[in-house]
Amino acid sequence: GERAPTDLNQLADEYLRLAYQGLRAKDKTFNAKLETDFAPGLPEVQAVGADLGRVLLNLFGNAFYAVQQRQQTGEAGYAPAVSVLTQSQNGHVEIRVSDNGTGMPPEVQAKIFQPFFTTKPTGQGTGLGLSLSYDIITKAHGGTLTVKSEPGQGSRFTILLPA
Ligand code: ADP
Ligand code: MG
Repeated sequence: GERAPTDLNQLADEYLRLAYQGLRAKDKTFNAKLETDFAPGLPEVQAVGADLGRVLLNLFGNAFYAVQQRQQTGEAGYAPAVSVLTQSQNGHVEIRVSDNGTGMPPEVQAKIFQPFFTTKPTGQGTGLGLSLSYDIITKAHGGTLTVKSEPGQGSRFTILLPA
């Protein structure tokens, strides 16, 4: 695809709702709080919109899956939440996807960018999402994709792209 000036706020908003509705269509009992904090006047990024959309869709899908898994443990008082933040950062645009889901132990974290690595049951995950996302962000867009995660607390994925 061709790179074009892309509004990350709009793309993220659109795909967040798409991912959430997709999940709710399959599981009517699933509920998560969606929190968005989109920086106004965010500079556009030169991006292949469809590829960036695919990256976001996978991050959101992973986040919803993680909160759904934690919800299914029946933990008292647990309120699933997924939040998305954008901000402009000296010549870069940052987008963060955070969830208060299961989190990941270090040995899982160490492998998540490898092709075909998944902890999901057969049919629920290909293990390709993050490895493809890593290539799309770093090789095709000159950005970075990093993760911070705490088992039992949640995860945060951060994308930095040149503005
Ligand atoms: P898939 O979603 O098909 O499993 P991904 O490449 O998208 O493949 O993710 C690989 C693995 O990384 C997941 O199976 C899961 O173990 C872990 N993972 C990714 N995102 C999260 C998250 N937000 N919370 C907890 N674990 C995650
Ligand atoms: Mg995935």
